[in-house]
Amino acid sequence: MDLRTLFIAQTCALIAIAAMLWIARAPDDRRNGLRTWTLAVSSQGIAYLLLANAGRLPVLLSALLGNAAGALSVALFYVAIRQFLGLRYRWPWLLAMVAAVTIAGGIAGSNYAGATIFNGFVYGAVQLLNGAALWRRPAAGLQRVQRLVALAYLAMGLVLPLRALAMLLQGSGLAYLDMPPDWQQPIYVFGFLFIIVTNLGFMQLCKMRAEAEVRLQAMTDGLTGLANRRALDEAMHRSLAGAQRDQQPFAVLMLDIDHFKAINDRFGHHQGDATLAAFAARLRAGLRAQDQCFRYGGEEFCVLLPQTGAADAALLAERLRAHLVLPASGEMPRLSASLGIAVWQAGDSADALFGRADRALYRAKTLGRDRVEIDQ
Ligand code: GH3
Ligand code: MG
Ligand code: MG
Repeated sequence: MDLRTLFIAQTCALIAIAAMLWIARAPDDRRNGLRTWTLAVSSQGIAYLLLANAGRLPVLLSALLGNAAGALSVALFYVAIRQFLGLRYRWPWLLAMVAAVTIAGGIAGSNYAGATIFNGFVYGAVQLLNGAALWRRPAAGLQRVQRLVALAYLAMGLVLPLRALAMLLQGSGLAYLDMPPDWQQPIYVFGFLFIIVTNLGFMQLCKMRAEAEVRLQAMTDGLTGLANRRALDEAMHRSLAGAQRDQQPFAVLMLDIDHFKAINDRFGHHQGDATLAAFAARLRAGLRAQDQCFRYGGEEFCVLLPQTGAADAALLAERLRAHLVLPASGEMPRLSASLGIAVWQAGDSADALFGRADRALYRAKTLGRDRVEIDQ
């Protein structure tokens, strides 16, 4: 395998990746950095094409354009990674790096080794920054892929300056692709793997995060931001299995806002929605960290109280009821909620538990509202 073949294979791989990314582009790419990544791969492909055809263009032109496109791609990869991680980046620094690499490339002219040495140190530093940023902030659920991509960057951050150092010590004045292949070849093979790991890795990271966002959305109620009924069903299953396994009691709280229809009727649905959202926020704020809170539907809510027996649940519910009351203000009538409690008993199904909590809630309503009832 000679270096020229490897180089052309890398160029083809980059152009194919860039073409794929352009064809598959989507509006969401802007948010997670994939649009910038697409530009970066394209710029890198152009840089490689220019280098591969170096002999056919005037030396100065190919050196200036090739180095500018290469440096721009390094800057864009850096920006794409920062955008993905939600980190700040500074274009003035990056443009200064692009300018320095372009000027150094122009000065080096046909002395490709000179440009490779200079770029090796500059690009190596940027790759180390990329690797560190990815390694330090592994997103939940993405750790393994993110850390693998980080390792690829850290390795490249070491390989590039080491190669530059080796070339510096050799004092090689040879043209770029005619350099001694013995030690350049493994570096090129690593370069190939680097292209595959970073591109596949970054796309996979974007895909996994998008899927996690969709999963979260499917579990979230749009109006109140609380977990929804589907999330409640899953949480209830987990709670039942846990209680059965550990014989640890847990309690279910059902809440229903009192006379909520009157708010809609008097002030319209828009105000009704705002009241519901504010109520949900107060509900969340009135709970312990371990309690899970859901919008059951309409103006009804459900809370799962882990490791909580009847006495503690009754205390907590009474405190919550008082916390949720909003005194009348202006034209707005007093707002309150009724609460029903059921405590898990061995052998309970989800339906049985919800049914008992509902019965308790119904009793709270019939006994005058703004009160807590427990199903014994
Ligand atoms: P009670 O004290 O017996 O619970 O009386 P209520 O008026 O709260 O109960 P009812 O079940 O008669 O009415 C509930 C109302 O909640 C009816 C429905 O229009 C309203 N509602 C349900 N979901 C929403 C929503 O998302 N937005 C708005 N604005 N209103 C909603
Ligand atoms: Mg209701
Ligand atoms: Mg109601």
